[in-house]
Amino acid sequence: MTRMLMMGPPGSGKGTQASRIADKLGIVAISTGDIFRYNVKEMTELGKEAKKYMDNGDFVPDEVTNRMVADRIRQSDAEHGFLLDGYPRTAGQVEALDGFLTEDGQALTVVIELTVPDEELVARLLNRAETDGRADDTAEVIQHRLDLYHEQTQAVIESYVSRGIVARVDGTGQIDDITERLLQAVYSVRERTGNLPVVQPIGQGDGENPE
Ligand code: AMP
Repeated sequence: MTRMLMMGPPGSGKGTQASRIADKLGIVAISTGDIFRYNVKEMTELGKEAKKYMDNGDFVPDEVTNRMVADRIRQSDAEHGFLLDGYPRTAGQVEALDGFLTEDGQALTVVIELTVPDEELVARLLNRAETDGRADDTAEVIQHRLDLYHEQTQAVIESYVSRGIVARVDGTGQIDDITERLLQAVYSVRERTGNLPVVQPIGQGDGENPE
């Protein structure tokens, strides 16, 4: 069973890679940024609340984010594992996630950090601003989001290091090569921690689940 986090600064390609990796592993990818953007688009109450923060590149308050994630990871498609993309980003979120998982008798098995130098991130994000027109991809907001990542989210990753489940992966180069590197990193953490997939009898699905 793989319950993993994909961490990485804005612009690292973590969203793209998160869906690819989740597909390969046969688990659901859950992106808090995507859920917020969907709610903003649909103008739900959650969306209206989140938008105030997102437009400035600030974090949506932990209380709102945590509740949303707790609901989402308890849906049936996450029963056989999940990949969280963009969560947790604060110490409070780490604590909350541990709480939800412990209540459900579960634990995280892999944490991946996708690394890309800041200069390349800024260039990629400014480029994305031109092509996708995301409201939070302006030069000023980009810098603020990078600062928040360095100030708070990197400490989140450090907090998982002592659990022996963190792998760092170089996020530069060709997209397919990065996916391959990520998969190898997931496999090596699972091997190191003894969290190996269970081989399924033939004819019981072609994904890896249940492991
Ligand atoms: P992302 O697409 O992951 O870069 O997220 C876009 C925006 O959504 C962020 O800049 C935040 O405003 C908000 N957001 C996404 N995930 C979180 C989170 N875990 N905690 C707080 N805010 C978040």
